Amino acid sequence: MSFLFDLMNIAANQLNSNSKPLKESEKAAFIPSLDTVQQVDNAEREFRGASQSKSERWMLRTPTKRDIVARLERVSAEDGLRLKQCCSAFRVLTCGQHTIRSYPTFRCKKLFCPDCAAERANRLSRQTEAKIAEAMQTNKGRLCLLTLTMKNAATLDGGLSNLKKAFTQFKRKKVFKERIKGYFGGFEYTFNPKTNDFHVHLHLIVLRGKFWNQSDISDAWRDVTGDSFIVDIREIKDAHKGVKEVCKYVVKSNDLMKMSDDKFLEVVKMKKGTRMFISGGCFYNVKLDDDADDADDNIFSQFADLTEGDACPFCKEELFDVFVDRSQHIGLHELNAMPNVVKNNSS
Ligand SMILES: [Zn+2]
Ligand SMILES: [Zn+2]
Repeated sequence: MSFLFDLMNIAANQLNSNSKPLKESEKAAFIPSLDTVQQVDNAEREFRGASQSKSERWMLRTPTKRDIVARLERVSAEDGLRLKQCCSAFRVLTCGQHTIRSYPTFRCKKLFCPDCAAERANRLSRQTEAKIAEAMQTNKGRLCLLTLTMKNAATLDGGLSNLKKAFTQFKRKKVFKERIKGYFGGFEYTFNPKTNDFHVHLHLIVLRGKFWNQSDISDAWRDVTGDSFIVDIREIKDAHKGVKEVCKYVVKSNDLMKMSDDKFLEVVKMKKGTRMFISGGCFYNVKLDDDADDADDNIFSQFADLTEGDACPFCKEELFDVFVDRSQHIGLHELNAMPNVVKNNSS
């Protein structure tokens, strides 16, 4: 852990060292931090209710990405390159001291990409909360987390499609319709290297009207699956935390590094657009929009309206836009190696 703190200190020092406004000639060569700086980050964190800062998340997920890239390059060069290019270049709006916005110019949007997964989870939870609140104004009930599991499956595709079929039957049941007013959530899987198979499950946030106990749910679930009966339902005390949890579950790939090459390839080659997110009932309009890009996502920032030439909200210096290439820096140990600026957009 102390390694992380060292890195944070290095990052903080680098931010503080840029205390003077930049001259025009310096802007072109300026190397900004990719992350929004502390002031912006703290403000944003409050605004978004995020539990981790961007830089913390960045540090925690980059080593995994390097590992995945290395493995992917061995089994599928083309996919490896795509993953490597994802989040390797950024547009950064900065005054020279404060980074107001930064977003990657290319995202692979693959399920197994840790960078894209983190972004998707964030976007999903931000978009979702308002819609839930809205639905709950007219629909009374308790928010619960419902987890439905299936027996292990030899292939991910097979496991997912069985679970989807089972849930389609499940939601048509009278007992489901009587008790669940709305649901949304998605599929998650884990991989067991000992048995070489996938465990798929469905995490749903449901608005429960009439009480429904676990053993009755288990019976109903066994009814549609034939052999699977392990379910869990619990009330969500903190809606904000609960929504964030589910959003995290449903967007990521687990256990990639534990898989044999053939299973790994199966996950990598999973059909694009394989639906991992579902919603219905009074939560029907909770959707994961995978076509949205990061530029769109900036509408969630309190500084969304700022552009090049505007004054920095912190130091009033003029903001400028730079293109940052960090394609040489994927791993955690490379974090303090700053990215190279290859061109300045304002020219
Ligand atoms: Zn990606
Ligand atoms: Zn500034």
